[in-house]
Amino acid sequence: MSRYQQIREEAYLGNRQLPALGLVMFNFGNLSVADPLQHVFAIKPSGIPYDELMPEKMVIVDFEGKTVDGNLKPSSDTKTHAVLYKNWKNIGAIVHTHSTYATAWAQAQRPIPIYGTTHADHFTGPISCTPPMDDEMISGNYEYQTGLQIINHLKEKNLSYEEIEMILVGNHAPFTWGKNASKALYNSAILESIAQMALLTEQINPNAETLKASLIKKHFERKHGPDAYYGQ
Ligand SMILES: [Zn+2]
Repeated sequence: MSRYQQIREEAYLGNRQLPALGLVMFNFGNLSVADPLQHVFAIKPSGIPYDELMPEKMVIVDFEGKTVDGNLKPSSDTKTHAVLYKNWKNIGAIVHTHSTYATAWAQAQRPIPIYGTTHADHFTGPISCTPPMDDEMISGNYEYQTGLQIINHLKEKNLSYEEIEMILVGNHAPFTWGKNASKALYNSAILESIAQMALLTEQINPNAETLKASLIKKHFERKHGPDAYYGQ
């Protein structure tokens, strides 16, 4: 078995899930899976439809963004993935999509307020939205700078990437991550659902209040606290 076979398989299966979960249209999304020991990740090749993917078509890239194995061009967002893996030692997979509702909040440049318990099950505050990137970042190494924008924003907000596994990049779209492909995909799907529910909440009641502290605490802790008991 080739030294990259396992991450290629996992990245292949993960990318196939993106259209199945309704998170992408055409080629608008990508998933990668890292092997931290070998300092590489497997990512979707650029421009290949999801139903034509195969494990061997996944491109192997190092944490500097350089292709180390594979015949195809890696996803155009590869450098963003590389920067995140390089800086965040404990993540195993990253997902980027333009899923409709999460992207709409990113385009509106608004963090998603915590309106409900689905949101509180995963995080106790709003889902952050980075500021739009400035012109210098956009005209320079854009995809690399997108990764830095995410890292710097979490730092400014005093948030750890292990605490919150999702973010909106202002004017662009969401990125999610996790310890493996299933967790990063799960985060992507949950984020889309939270984004949709928050929009509907504001439409039904423009003055809707965010969740009260006791409910946030209850929901977060039953899933993540020392005495977690949540399971469905
Ligand atoms: Zn994008």
